[in-house]
Amino acid sequence: ISFDDIKLSKQIRMALDEAGFEKPTEIQHQVFSPVRSGKDIIGIAQTGTGKTLAYLMPILMKLNFAKGMDPRALIVVPTRELVLQVCETIELLTPYMDIRTLGIYGGVNINTQKEKVYDGVDILVATPGRLMDIYMTRVLKMSQVRTLVIDEADKMMDLGFMPQLNAIFDILPEKHQNLLFSATFSDTVAKMSDDFLFLPERIEV
Ligand code: AMP
Repeated sequence: ISFDDIKLSKQIRMALDEAGFEKPTEIQHQVFSPVRSGKDIIGIAQTGTGKTLAYLMPILMKLNFAKGMDPRALIVVPTRELVLQVCETIELLTPYMDIRTLGIYGGVNINTQKEKVYDGVDILVATPGRLMDIYMTRVLKMSQVRTLVIDEADKMMDLGFMPQLNAIFDILPEKHQNLLFSATFSDTVAKMSDDFLFLPERIEV
């Protein structure tokens, strides 16, 4: 498998080259086409498989460049550390792209994060509780979100984030693409998939 097998922009290919990434991992190869074609997917993959790039590459291809003020992709993750990690990976992939990323998470001053929303956001990376807290203050609009990623879904359930995730699904536009990633296909993950995903393609590595 080579990066030539997936249709990436020159900008992303240059960033991958500079990062020293020579070929896509298995999950990156398998996830790209279904996500590009607009399907919902469930990716069963551990950390270390390259799952973050697997969902970021097709999302960045779709977003293309900064547009409007409101987020068009929403990535929900269980912890602050993961928010920062995903934001770093976006930075790594986008030195040649005009894309605005904002990471929001609990445990820090909410007003500082609220102010950053006003700069305009293309990709919002968030922990569920803080996302809903900021949404409730009405600074953040979800009407442009076309892609939702739920990363480490099983961990999110273990941490008791199900009510917040339900609330997040409620505030998103009805028509949006769901990308659910989990290390395990547990009963709660299966239920979440049944409740919220539309004919998902299951990809397991
Ligand atoms: P993840 O599973 O998303 O946490 O990624 C695990 C690690 O693999 C991260 O440090 C990535 O930077 C790295 N990585 C992701 N994709 C590739 C690739 N195609 N080639 C080499 N390293 C990669």
